[in-house]
Amino acid sequence: MTFLLEAGFLAEIALKNHQKSLQFGGNWWQYEDMLHHNPRELLQLINRTSPSSHFVFDIDSTLVHLHKRNQSILKNFLEIPETQKRFPKQTKNFFDAEFKVGDWGLGDALERHGLTPEDNEFFSELKNHWLEKFFSNEFLHEDIPVYGAVDFANEIQNRGFRLSYLTGRNRPNMLEGTIKSLANCGFPLQKDYSNLHMKPSPDMSDEAYKMDTFKEIIQEGEDVLFFENEPINLNRAARDYPGMHLIFMDTTHSGKEHPPEKCFRIKDFTELAGQLVT
Ligand SMILES: [Mg+2]
Repeated sequence: MTFLLEAGFLAEIALKNHQKSLQFGGNWWQYEDMLHHNPRELLQLINRTSPSSHFVFDIDSTLVHLHKRNQSILKNFLEIPETQKRFPKQTKNFFDAEFKVGDWGLGDALERHGLTPEDNEFFSELKNHWLEKFFSNEFLHEDIPVYGAVDFANEIQNRGFRLSYLTGRNRPNMLEGTIKSLANCGFPLQKDYSNLHMKPSPDMSDEAYKMDTFKEIIQEGEDVLFFENEPINLNRAARDYPGMHLIFMDTTHSGKEHPPEKCFRIKDFTELAGQLVT
C-alpha cells in the first residue's frame, strides 16, 4: 500500500495509461476487447472435472463489482465540511461523478468528469481518504455481485465441490464487512468461515499471500480452478502452480501485467450458472 500513498493520483493514472500503451501499442481497453472469451470451453472442463475439484474464488472484481463502493467513498469525502471548504470547485465538479462497472479505482471515473493537473492536491487528499475507507468494513455493503456469480457459487457448493474464497482483503479491518456482504448477496459461507481466506495484515502483498495460502489449502491430487481478475496473481499462479486451471475474470484490473496466455477468460458467470450437468 505504501507506493500508493507516495505516488500522486495524477502521476499514477498517467503512469498506468503510459504502461498500457507501451505494452500493447494502443488503447488498453480496445486490446482487452479483442481477447477471446471462452465460457463454453470452461463449462466443458467443469462438467468433466472430478467431484473432488476445488473452486477458489477471489472476491473483489471477480465475484463482486466495486464501482458503487468507490462512488460512495468519493461522496463520503465530498460531504465532509472541511473538504467543501478547502475544495469548493472540486466538490461541485465531482459530486455527481458516476462510476461504472470496469472502472479501476477512482481515476477512471474522475477522468471522465474532467480531472486535470490542477486537481492534484484534491486528488491526493481524496486518495488518502479512499485508502482508509476502501480497506475497511464501512462500505463493503455497496458491492454488487457479478452477473451469475451467486447462482454459480451455490451450484458449486451444492454439487459437493470444495469452494474457497481467497481475497486480498485484510482480516483485521475487513472480516466483519466481508462476511455480512457475502451473506447478504447470497454467496455460500461455511458456518465457521473456515473457507474464507483473508490477509492477516494490510501490509502483505496480495500475490505473496495468495501463493502462500494455496500451499495450505490445496489438498494432494485435487484439481484447482482459480477465478481471479488480477493478472499479477494469475501469472504467479501459472508459474508456481503449473497444473492449476486459471480463469481470468475480465472485469477490471491494475493494468500492470497482461493475463497469462493459457487461461480461460470470462466477463461474468451468466454462461456457467444453471448449465452444470447433474
Ligand atoms: Mg480481485
